[in-house]
Amino acid sequence: MHDLTRCVHHPAVDVQGFASLAVATHRASTIVYPDGAAFAARRHRGFDGYTYGLHGTPTTRTLEAQLTALHGGVRTVLVPSGQAAMMLVFLTFLMPGDKVLIPDTVYPPVRSVCEAYLRPRGIDYAAYDPLIGADIADLIDERTRLVWIESPGSGSMEVQDVPAIIKAAKARNALVGCDNTWATPLLFKPLAHGADFACEALTKYVGGHSDLLLGSISVADIALRQRMKEVLRDLGIGVSPDECALALRGIETMGVRLAHMGRVSEDFASRLTGSRVIEAVLHPALPSCPGHTLWKRDMGRSSGVFSILLKPCDPSVLEAALTSLKVFAIGASWGGTRSLIAPMAIAQDRTVTPWTHPGPVLRISIGLEDVEDLWTDLNALLTRLERADARDA
Ligand SMILES: *Cc1c(COP(=O)(O)O)cnc(C)c1O
Repeated sequence: MHDLTRCVHHPAVDVQGFASLAVATHRASTIVYPDGAAFAARRHRGFDGYTYGLHGTPTTRTLEAQLTALHGGVRTVLVPSGQAAMMLVFLTFLMPGDKVLIPDTVYPPVRSVCEAYLRPRGIDYAAYDPLIGADIADLIDERTRLVWIESPGSGSMEVQDVPAIIKAAKARNALVGCDNTWATPLLFKPLAHGADFACEALTKYVGGHSDLLLGSISVADIALRQRMKEVLRDLGIGVSPDECALALRGIETMGVRLAHMGRVSEDFASRLTGSRVIEAVLHPALPSCPGHTLWKRDMGRSSGVFSILLKPCDPSVLEAALTSLKVFAIGASWGGTRSLIAPMAIAQDRTVTPWTHPGPVLRISIGLEDVEDLWTDLNALLTRLERADARDA
């Protein structure tokens, strides 16, 4: 063998005895086969076989298997983002003439896709009151192929009666998908309640460090996994094993991160209710939150994201108060170690449950900083708003 060949052929080394606790990052485009017959038969390698890097490597399979186990499903499909997870379900299972029902409080880009992409292609949608519960039965007609759930609701945190909605949908043969990003499988397992799809933006709590984008769909019916994988194959979409390796590292600490963030978010939510400049604190753990008893029944624990509804104030005062924060960062994609705060425009995204509150909404995501540092920072923000309020009065 000459040097140029040596450069291309990696020597095999002994892996015997190398028992690392870390999951190896297996990268690949090409998968090679031991002989011509194996190559010819590659299509028959089954759900978990390897045929091409795009369709999975041992690294991506490990993350899939871990999420499948957490959700109590049979398989998990990985996609490049949380939004892609929702859309893979929509694009795989909705055909022209079908209709999808989405909660009025849905993650806004989902509604945008329904309006701007699906409707022009003959797939209809309707928004429903997230608190509709079993009455969703009245909205499900013979065209309704999919009922979408997201609980608690984006920005406004209403908790849905997920079991009742699933029961009504199943009685009419509609599929049910659940965006479970807030809860993660540690707080809620949609498949255990009969949902067909449990979707996660792994970008948030699984990744946990604001440095990756991934999404997942876990299913309890292997046929659903098969159809989604076919669509991914046709569209040429796969995920990077490097992203999955980061997610596999993140998921190891998700339990302690989430428990801490949940405790702090509940504590802050109840402490904030006393503020003069806050109209309402929107947190499922507060009895005032719409759906609080459902949260208690179905989850009983919180993650780190909630909202505060402020009394109307001068936008420039709020902007200055936000800019003066020293520990909280201003930003949207939550679930990392840094605490975040972000103003939310809610009214524009509500069509069946009009948002009537004139004041601004701030979404808060609790991170892992010192709790007193966070509280001091939030308090400084509120004090600035209170001072401005007192000046105006
Ligand atoms: C962030 C988020 C998404 C989208 O996840 P990306 O990975 O950012 O695309 C979807 N649903 C909810 C509830 C989210 O918070």
